Amino acid sequence: MRILIVEDEAGIAAFLKQGLEEESYAVDVASNGRTGLDLALSGEYDLLLLDWMLPGLSGIEICRQFRKEFQQTPVIFLTAKDTVDETVFGLQSGANDYIKKPFHFEELLERVRVQLRPKSGEHAVFKLGNITLNTETHQVLKEDMEIHLTQKEFALLEYLIRNKGKVCRRTRIIESVWDINFEYNTGVIDVYINALRKKLLLTPEENYIQTIRGIGYIAKEI
Ligand code: CA
Repeated sequence: MRILIVEDEAGIAAFLKQGLEEESYAVDVASNGRTGLDLALSGEYDLLLLDWMLPGLSGIEICRQFRKEFQQTPVIFLTAKDTVDETVFGLQSGANDYIKKPFHFEELLERVRVQLRPKSGEHAVFKLGNITLNTETHQVLKEDMEIHLTQKEFALLEYLIRNKGKVCRRTRIIESVWDINFEYNTGVIDVYINALRKKLLLTPEENYIQTIRGIGYIAKEI
């Protein structure tokens, strides 16, 4: 899952980025409204965190323009504005939620999780053969044995498992799991995939993560 933060206060942005990365999200930061809108419109994000008052373009304006093209992607405002009128105005511009500064990271994380929670009909628990991945508890089990993964390994497995049965191109994996500063080097993915296969103790009979030569990977049950 990839999140865009548009926030001009560098300290807050860095704090949020670090906290969210520790939760296995890939995070990009834009420090002004214009860059924020351009990145948002790339369509690469699963959620936007928008500051309200920004140089260039306000969070409200970004949200309005973003909503013309993307209706489903959740948007959360970070705002010091907290009068009823302004909050209503924010929600009317198409935001799903807002959080008032100053806030506790745990609260923000919970609101992010709520927005990214599986919709009805979807599940938080994904299975791949005898592997179970729970996106709410961040737990990975092989049968009954817990497997400890790094954040990036978890995000990588989550991406593959959510796209089970589909060929996942390396470029798409990078876009979803790594951030914009990632130096494009598909070899890194191969290293992570191999680490993942080792940690999951996949036997030849459990070849759940298969390489599609020259293209990427596919997660499938044998
Ligand atoms: Ca601001």
